[in-house]
Amino acid sequence: MVSTTLDVEQLLRGAALRVTRPRVSVLTAVYEHPHADTDSIIGVVREDLGEVSHQTVYDVLRALTTAGLVRRIEPSGSVARYESRVGDNHHHVVCRSCGAIEDVDCAVSDTPCLTASDDNGYSIDEAEVVYWGLCPTCSTARSS
Ligand SMILES: [Zn+2]
Ligand SMILES: [Zn+2]
Repeated sequence: MVSTTLDVEQLLRGAALRVTRPRVSVLTAVYEHPHADTDSIIGVVREDLGEVSHQTVYDVLRALTTAGLVRRIEPSGSVARYESRVGDNHHHVVCRSCGAIEDVDCAVSDTPCLTASDDNGYSIDEAEVVYWGLCPTCSTARSS
């Protein structure tokens, strides 16, 4: 986990991004609030920096995503969410009822889902799998 501003600045520099206050604040927010949507991230950033435009936060999120520092996920029917856990091909389980999202590691160790039954000649580096269901809170609410 990245816990200090300094670490976040190093991540930005490592990705050849100039260190700016909005970038530091947005990246920190994504680390501290995994799977947050843009509106929640804007809220966190505003607590940190004061008034920041939506456009600024959108632009920063796009730059961080392009640089590979954050991963954008968009389960169908949900707004885009962002997370700092990148590059490990993990999956997500989404609650149909309340939209809660949790990380799910690959089913069996080494990314077997990347071995497609027929890759059609593509060089595949990512498999996007979304598990859908009900979270514990919602399934308890339904059965009681
Ligand atoms: Zn739920
Ligand atoms: Zn995740």
